[in-house]
Amino acid sequence: MDKPEILYMVVPCYNEQEVLHETARQLKEKYTTLIQQKLISPKSRVVFVNDGSKDTTWQIIQELHAESPEFFSGINLAHNSGHQNAVLAGLMTVKDICDMAITMDADLQDDINTIDAMVKEYYNGNQVVYGVRSARKTDTFFKRFTAESFYKFMKVMGADVVYNHADFRLMSKRVLQELGNFREVNLFLRGMIPTIGFQSCNVYYERHERFAGESKYPLKKMLAFAINGITSFSTKPLKMITSLGFIMFVISIVAFIWSFIVKVAGLSIDGWSSTMCSVWLIGGLQLLCLGIIGEYVGKIYAEVKQRPRFIVADFINDTEKI
Ligand code: UDP
Ligand code: MG
Repeated sequence: MDKPEILYMVVPCYNEQEVLHETARQLKEKYTTLIQQKLISPKSRVVFVNDGSKDTTWQIIQELHAESPEFFSGINLAHNSGHQNAVLAGLMTVKDICDMAITMDADLQDDINTIDAMVKEYYNGNQVVYGVRSARKTDTFFKRFTAESFYKFMKVMGADVVYNHADFRLMSKRVLQELGNFREVNLFLRGMIPTIGFQSCNVYYERHERFAGESKYPLKKMLAFAINGITSFSTKPLKMITSLGFIMFVISIVAFIWSFIVKVAGLSIDGWSSTMCSVWLIGGLQLLCLGIIGEYVGKIYAEVKQRPRFIVADFINDTEKI
């Protein structure tokens, strides 16, 4: 490292008036030491993104900016857009003025002291540093169980997410630029970032309890988030219909033969064989056809997302030599 680089923290805030002062105080302290240690440039900032809060969150952000413009900046979204969109809004706003950016929730659940390790890993050449929870001691059994099942289920459904990693991560300017090329509207950042690639690593931390206020992710929102994660990341559910349709179709042929034998043997009552055959055959055929349509829908889905087809990390070429 020649000279310390610019770190922007992006902190989404939705009705966070109870915690914001404390978060700002701790972040300011952290920034002061990081700047003294010459780990980050004095041009570094903390950007609070107000996600359409209904309380005084935006006023607090404006006050923080007025008091210490050398530490705090703010983005005010026109309406509540949800956590993922708020994070992306922050990242896309700072991507050209920072060297690296860290996203972190406002509620101090993520350990601020992990920032040091993240920045050091960045200087070690990592373009993405994932904050991974080493323990979930402070979470309730229910939250832990649902969250851990979520990661496992995501993997089975074909979305490759970093286990126990939420949205506490560092990204380099390079990665942010590439992220800007993803045009999709249904955001699931923790699935998208790993698909970008580049050298990455994990740093581990213990997750704390929410400092104040209450979770903005009740079970209903969490379920919606999980469903969004799966449906934005994989077409496996559609493929499962095709497999099911195929299995049903094979069973229907067996059922067809069986009912034919029963009929020929004279063991069935009138109308039984024809009813059996049509129910099974039509059911199986319908599922199979739905699956085939699903395969095409999956392809259309991938096309409309217009994700970059590849990302070039390096290009070595010497035009001088013949
Ligand atoms: N948040 C947001 N917009 C929303 C909901 C939440 O910006 O619509 C922010 C919130 O202020 C917090 C972060 O997203 O900084 C994570 O939310 P929360 O802590 O409530 O979720 P949990 O940690 O309980 O999953
Ligand atoms: Mg939280």
